[in-house]
Amino acid sequence: MYQALYRKWRPRTFDDVVGQGHITETLKRQVAAGRLSHAYLFTGTRGTGKTTCAKILARAVNCENPQEGNPCNACPSCLGIENGSILDVLELDAASNNGVDQVRALRDEAVYTPAAVRKRVYIVDEVHMLSTAAFNALLKILEEPPPHLLFILATTELHKVPATIKSRCQQFAFKRILPTQIAQRLEYVAEQEGIPLTEEGAALLARLADGGMRDALSLLDQCAGGQDSLDEQAILDVLGLAGNVETAALMGQLAARDTAGALSTLARLYAGGRDVGSVLGELSSLARDLLLRKTAPLGGAALMTGGYDEAALRGLGEQLSAQRLLQMLTLLQDASAGLARSANRRTDAELCLIRLSDEGLDESFAGLSARIARIEERLARGIPAAPKKPETERGGTAPAPAPKDDTPPWEEERPPLPEEPPEEPDYVFDEPAPVPEPPAPPKPPAPKPV
Ligand SMILES: [Zn+2]
Repeated sequence: MYQALYRKWRPRTFDDVVGQGHITETLKRQVAAGRLSHAYLFTGTRGTGKTTCAKILARAVNCENPQEGNPCNACPSCLGIENGSILDVLELDAASNNGVDQVRALRDEAVYTPAAVRKRVYIVDEVHMLSTAAFNALLKILEEPPPHLLFILATTELHKVPATIKSRCQQFAFKRILPTQIAQRLEYVAEQEGIPLTEEGAALLARLADGGMRDALSLLDQCAGGQDSLDEQAILDVLGLAGNVETAALMGQLAARDTAGALSTLARLYAGGRDVGSVLGELSSLARDLLLRKTAPLGGAALMTGGYDEAALRGLGEQLSAQRLLQMLTLLQDASAGLARSANRRTDAELCLIRLSDEGLDESFAGLSARIARIEERLARGIPAAPKKPETERGGTAPAPAPKDDTPPWEEERPPLPEEPPEEPDYVFDEPAPVPEPPAPPKPPAPKPV
């Protein structure tokens, strides 16, 4: 039976876990010294090794022959736990049914000592999905845990775990794994599996995995098979991605406001089987990299998703201002979010490209805020105060003189004030009259109230 790569190559000892040395070293020391907590809480994004470390820890605490804190993976306890024949190590999936029945059953059986090994271990995955009732049942056990119990809770959403649970656990935060570390592991696995993965191919997969080893190995699984060489181009073809060269070229056309060119590039990519959503996604990460280079030229290098050569980035950076990049990013994010529920993805992507190449057509928040900034600038120059009554009278009887095309309404010429005093002189004129700015139209002196 074929076994997925990420399962086949799941680490079996703490030393095999990639990129989480700050956690695995601590756990090894605790196991070796016998200073274990009764409850652990593993947090972090998906695919970073939480469940893997939980399984290793469950074996390590029960191993008959531990090796400096690592499980030996050869003794009956290790093997029994690994193949599931020892029922003292239990995995609960909190996502399946809110877990309340499982947690209550667990509480009832918690008093019994384990049958085959030293410690009964409960691994609760996605613990944030537990219902309130299940959390309360769990809390009861965590408050007075029998010495033979060990809880390992794992979650991707720490903020949903009640503080009462958190405070009773030793908490370990799993980091996103660095692309270089993922690439190294991918190359090792590919070599063992006889997959002809090139160095550039491994680097590309590592970038796409976004810090998750499981995603990286799943992507490798998806791309492997048949090719003579699994290089960048082969991966881009299998996954339907545009690739950096095409993305940079498309960004260049947008920067030069070459709408026709950008649309024909998209049409070519579309005909070649590329997904328009991933084209927009790649444009978005390129725009992000360019913006980072502008706003944090020194420190930003570590944050870049990478993969673009320096010359391409510099050329594009000179053509695009930070404001334009911000506006582009906003448009791209909105368009990408909208694609999921779009009836015609290609048209939506084309509309997005048209807006990107001409910021005058942008009706998004970023475009609007640019216009508001312009109005604010004009307001700051001052508006001459206008008396109320004559304006309303004129509005009711005679049409206003047509202003010139580019003259805002408040700058158009006003008719002179009437001779007789208005009906509410106190209200209108007792306030100090603002001093008109030099460019303001001349104003007759206000008549004194009677
Ligand atoms: Zn063992």
